[in-house]
Amino acid sequence: MSRQLNLILTGPPGSGKGTQAKRLVEKYGIPQISTGDILREAVKSGSEIGLRAKAIMDSGELVPDEVVIEIVRQRLARPDCKPGCVLDGFPRTKNQAVALDGILKEQGREPARVIALVVADDELRRRILARGEGRADDNEESVKKRLEVYKRDTEPVLAHYAKSVAKIDGVGSLDDITARITKAVG
Ligand code: ADP
Repeated sequence: MSRQLNLILTGPPGSGKGTQAKRLVEKYGIPQISTGDILREAVKSGSEIGLRAKAIMDSGELVPDEVVIEIVRQRLARPDCKPGCVLDGFPRTKNQAVALDGILKEQGREPARVIALVVADDELRRRILARGEGRADDNEESVKKRLEVYKRDTEPVLAHYAKSVAKIDGVGSLDDITARITKAVG
């Protein structure tokens, strides 16, 4: 393995990114950077960013690029990211992907490796509405919006990384999916 593993774990809402990211943290000893978790923390703490983000997140739309790009830039510069990181939920737009490539370069880091989890829409809807985490955005209307936004804004990220992305079947047991990902990482 190269000296640093900067892994992007992408996929639609409900594809299991968060769950698999936590397993990869254990496996590779690198931190998870979940922009969704960081934004939810900001909402809870009532910070400036949180106040701006809450209504957008509840509706299922995306928080402005410059906000999440700055969050990731600062998080990546922290010493625990030296061996690498698992990016979960970022980049979510083409613009964020271009910015990330620049941040990695600017910070002298390895280029990102990209894993995309593939799950059909019906299964995604079923999983999100069944998961009962009590998230304000896990209702029928917001889920529909999040799936639309994924297709509109996040699928182009896969095109941006078309040469290097590994598409992984995200249906099966958690262990099987983790095994597929680690095999693709090599
Ligand atoms: P999910 O993958 O189930 O949609 P996340 O926790 O990744 O859950 O994201 C929840 C919400 O947080 C998104 O719908 C969006 O409003 C906001 N968000 C998270 N990451 C980003 C990002 N990279 N860019 C813009 N908004 C984001």
